[in-house]
This record gives sequence, C-alpha cells and structure tokens, in this order.
Amino acid sequence: MSSLGMDRNGDVRSASEFKEIFGETGNSYGPYKCPFCEVPFEDRCIVTECVKAPHFKLPNGTAHRNGCNGEAGDGVTAGANAPSEASKRTVVGKIEIPEALVRRRKASSVRKPGDDGLGAPPDAIEIVRRRRLIDSDKTISSCFTTSQLRPIVHAYKRLRKHAYEQAVAAGLERGSAAYNARFREILDAHDLSLYKQKLTYGSAFQGSRLSPWHVERVYNGSGKVLAENDCLVIKDMNTWPRQLKSRDLIPFEIKVSKALASDAPTSLLRALAELEHIAASGGEVEWWAYGVPLLQGQKFELSVDSLDHIYWIGQHQR
Ligand SMILES: [Zn+2]
Repeated sequence: MSSLGMDRNGDVRSASEFKEIFGETGNSYGPYKCPFCEVPFEDRCIVTECVKAPHFKLPNGTAHRNGCNGEAGDGVTAGANAPSEASKRTVVGKIEIPEALVRRRKASSVRKPGDDGLGAPPDAIEIVRRRRLIDSDKTISSCFTTSQLRPIVHAYKRLRKHAYEQAVAAGLERGSAAYNARFREILDAHDLSLYKQKLTYGSAFQGSRLSPWHVERVYNGSGKVLAENDCLVIKDMNTWPRQLKSRDLIPFEIKVSKALASDAPTSLLRALAELEHIAASGGEVEWWAYGVPLLQGQKFELSVDSLDHIYWIGQHQR
C-alpha cells in the first residue's frame, strides 16, 4: 500500500490529492504508477466512495523493483512507518475520516526532462534520486488529507451521529454528564490536523455557545447571505459571547472576497457563483468556515482567505 502515485502525465501526488481532483472535476488521470520505479499501481478509493482512505496498491504478484519501496525520502524510516500509519487509520462504520486540512499544492514531477516514461524502468540510482527529490511532507504523504472543508464537515456530522448512537446504545441518557463524556471521548479519538495544528474532531469545531477562540478553528452557524461591495457576507443568526462565559453577546459575520486568483480552479468559481446566487435571492445557509474571528468594533468578523475554507450545506462541487 502506497500513498504517493504518478498519473499518466507524470504528475506525482498523494492518493488523497488525486481523490480530491476526481471529486472536483470528475476526471481520473490513471493509470497510475509508482513515481520512483514506475511499476504499475492499482488505485483504491480514489474514484469510488469507500470505507478506506484513498491509496495505491501493487497488483497481486507484482513488486517494486531496483530497491524501491514506494516511499519518498531516504528510505529506512519513512518506508518502515508507512504501513503502520496506514493500518491504524480509523474508519468508523461507513465513515471515511480525513485526518488533515492542508493547502492545495502543485503536483511534483520526478522524471528528468525529455523522459516520457516509455523507456527502460529507472535504475537503482535514479530511484534514489527520485525518492530524495520528492519533498517528504509527512502530513501529505502519510495521512488522508483534504484541502477543502466539505469532506471534513461531512465526516464530522457522521461522526456525531455515530457518537450519539454509541452513547444511546450504552444506555446513557442524552444530556447527562456520562453521555456528554462518552460523546466527547468518541470525537476526541479521531485526530484532525488543521494546517499542522494538532486537534481532534472533538476540539476543532466551534459554534455560537462559546466565545470564539483567538486561533484558527472551524466555526459554524446559519445565516443570511448578503452582497456588500466586493464581498459576500453571511450574518450569523445567533449572537456570540464577546468573552469567555460573558453575557455580552455580539454579532458574528463571515466575509468572503469576490476576488479570486486568476488561476483559481473552476470548482471555486462555481462555489462563488452559487453563493452570489444565494445572496441575490435573499437565501440563508448553514455555514462552516475555517479561520480566526477578529473583534471588529461591536462584532466578530471571520474573513475566509479561500473558498476552500468555507462550506455550506448543499454546496455543489461541480
Ligand atoms: Zn516503486
């Protein structure tokens, strides 16, 4: 089982990234190969919904060649860790649980200029060169990652339902201290890293009952979408405590800039058009946003720096 693969264009990405591209565009760029020794790979859970995290596997009866083990880096440690990382990956019922929110990045490339992959397979020296070349970002290559909130919010909702069912099945009364403890324990058992902040599904999310943390979290609420100058603004229907345990409640707004980078993926253009449409028709959304709410005068304002960092229930991806 490998987490890195090379597509038919020679682009090297993690299986999670290929899954995200498929989710956004409906395109698969297989067949995939090992980026280092170029032996063919089978893809798993990339173009199909699946209980496992996306990954690549060698077809039965095949093996990596010339000393390759399918992992980036200098070898010994990275290669030895990967299988155990993969096997302790948690799958709850039919829930795929992303483990990290990471920045979108460009694909890596390992072939030398002019190499179209059709010649002789890479020799041992070339394999070592390629393995050192790939930046071995452990988060990206060893976890189930995503650069969008959508799969994280879906996993969170399903995990909460699962925790509720488990607590009820254990005979705990809803709202009791024991119920709350069991519920929280289940959520906390699932790691969620938000751009390297090591959190859990129990600690990464926050709604209007608590004063916003002064750090990045996934905040959520519901409210009306309005167009204001160069922004779209979601005004949360609830007021939020200005300070910890304070009764001083103030408005909370999400700001989304209408200016997108010129190379923004079409999925983000569509998401923006959809939010503008909701604003034009005076609609409301149940929203989820990643960022830091800042106190601006008499309200909290959370400016999302990318449409990847806002999700609303019903958002279409394509
Ligand atoms: Zn290989």
